[in-house]
Amino acid sequence: MKIIMLGAPGAGKGTQAKQIAEKYRIPHISTGDIFRANIKDGTELGKKAKEYMDQGLLVPDELTVALVADRIVEEDCRDGFVLDGFPRTIPQAKALDAALEKMGEKIDFAIDVDVSDESIINRMSGRRACLNCGATYHIVSIPTKEEGICDKCKNPVVLRDDDKPETVQKRLGVYHEQTQPLIEYYSGQGILRSVDGMRNMQDVFEDIVRILGA
Ligand code: AMP
Repeated sequence: MKIIMLGAPGAGKGTQAKQIAEKYRIPHISTGDIFRANIKDGTELGKKAKEYMDQGLLVPDELTVALVADRIVEEDCRDGFVLDGFPRTIPQAKALDAALEKMGEKIDFAIDVDVSDESIINRMSGRRACLNCGATYHIVSIPTKEEGICDKCKNPVVLRDDDKPETVQKRLGVYHEQTQPLIEYYSGQGILRSVDGMRNMQDVFEDIVRILGA
């Protein structure tokens, strides 16, 4: 099953994507995570990506598309994948369709996790991330066991630069302008399914399972 997660930054699509990956035994491919791993490792790609990410801007399509095109042909993607944070622009979506078509494949579902802008801003200011292992928390809804310390690797958790309020506003603007048009794009293909992302994570996940099938 090939799935795309759509939704504003902070809508909870990453959390849902991880659960989908686990239940349906398919890889979770997050372009944001791949960029952050590259930044941590100090690669050329990481250096380029960071310039855009820290400003709340999208990394240019040519860098992002190549990365995903290489990833989805790997062996573990044979039975499908869940893409989280990609595509984020119409050209990315078209490039993905073209890459899949070459393989005789197509996307099965584009799931839009719908959340209001106001809740996104509230949620993201409470988000904390471990820059060492990538685990994410929320000071209210998913707190760390020990304040400020990652449960998994015991490193400090921080408010990521791209989750700071001024950057979040910018990212929301970028989302409405460049990513939201994908809703219409996938609706036109008949594969869009929307879920109400304002409820708790488990209820949202149950809706998704109803869509994908048990
Ligand atoms: P995320 O963790 O998905 O919210 O991504 C964090 C940041 O990485 C975004 O704000 C962008 O700067 C960059 N990024 C992730 N995925 C993409 C993409 N598909 N296209 C362009 N930039 C991306």
